[in-house]
Amino acid sequence: MRTIYLDNNATTAVAPEVFDAMRPYFVDHYGNASSVHRASVKAAAALREARKTMARVLGCDEGEIIFTSCGTESDNMAIRGTLEESLGKRHIVTTAVEHPAVLNVVRDLEAHGATVTILGVDRDGQIDLDELRDSLRDDTALVTVMLANNETGVLFPIDEIAAIVKERGVALHTDAVQAVGKVPIDLSKLNVDFLALSAHKFHGPKGVGAMFARKGTPCHSFLLGGGQERGRRAGTENVGGVVAMALALERAAQHMDHYHTVTRDLRDRLEQGLLDAVPGAFVNGARSPRLPNTSSICFPGVDASAMLLLLDEVGICASAGSACKSGAGIASPVLAAMGVPAGDARGMIRFSLAHDTTAEDIDYTLEHVPGIVERMRRTSAA
Ligand code: PLP
Repeated sequence: MRTIYLDNNATTAVAPEVFDAMRPYFVDHYGNASSVHRASVKAAAALREARKTMARVLGCDEGEIIFTSCGTESDNMAIRGTLEESLGKRHIVTTAVEHPAVLNVVRDLEAHGATVTILGVDRDGQIDLDELRDSLRDDTALVTVMLANNETGVLFPIDEIAAIVKERGVALHTDAVQAVGKVPIDLSKLNVDFLALSAHKFHGPKGVGAMFARKGTPCHSFLLGGGQERGRRAGTENVGGVVAMALALERAAQHMDHYHTVTRDLRDRLEQGLLDAVPGAFVNGARSPRLPNTSSICFPGVDASAMLLLLDEVGICASAGSACKSGAGIASPVLAAMGVPAGDARGMIRFSLAHDTTAEDIDYTLEHVPGIVERMRRTSAA
């Protein structure tokens, strides 16, 4: 049976070229990049080259890139590190639809004395910019707003958010884990202080990510040790992983046009086909600017976790959103924040495409999904 992989927001396949590029740093040039002998020279050079590539693609300085183990670490580091250096300021502003890598950190800081404002979103998944402006206080240390939502693909207007936040001199972090590799990002123009990214979301390997930290913005280091990453994040560098991440990022930039034309068309065709074929279905965040690959569709009257199993039986891999607990009847907090009724939200399936998703993949999905929904609705009615 064929596999139709439509869960690329969860993780992506490592591109074969990317996989090949990382191999030598595990089996040939495996020396520690911080050592001085011949076994390390190529590793250290590869690390420098990867940093250069990432800085070029993202539009920042090499010294502003810190390699980490994942997006979660980058988010934690920026948020905790900023609070630690905030000279007594203890107020954080964020949104109700952030990934747990942000929300759980903010909640933990709140439990330890910080004050937190969580901005709600409207039915389109957007925050109210006036509410953001009003939320800023003299003791606000940090605003953290994601660039693209992982469940709905909704894009936040980070340019406008930055203008508001920076006018008040407050540090701004953006969780760009779902955005990097999917929308163009130019840090020479985007006025954020911190940005988190993760290689496995753009056809790089798992277990490697990066944090952009703008020069001069204070951020405390928590991972102390051997002084790697200029003392900002200790730990022996994952040279192969970093090399792979830089190549994957470069490839994603090359695929950007295709992604915003062919992939977007395929996503739109999938959405329209499902809306036409499934009575009552609707798309979350449809009126907002969105990632071109993501479609969050509610199929009222079905249980998404059960539907995922039926989709899997015909080879279709999708997702019910990151926080949907199978069988527990807990709908996504993101959809709840958007005001989607809990009954409808329980039937949400996220389809997320890649640049190599084909028209045949979409045809196959359109062939099977409507029948599965109909069967589930008939069974639950009976
Ligand atoms: N932030 C967002 C928006 C995500 O979608 C994810 C992963 O799904 C993360 C952070 C965490 O990234 P990682 O899996 O690299 O820790």
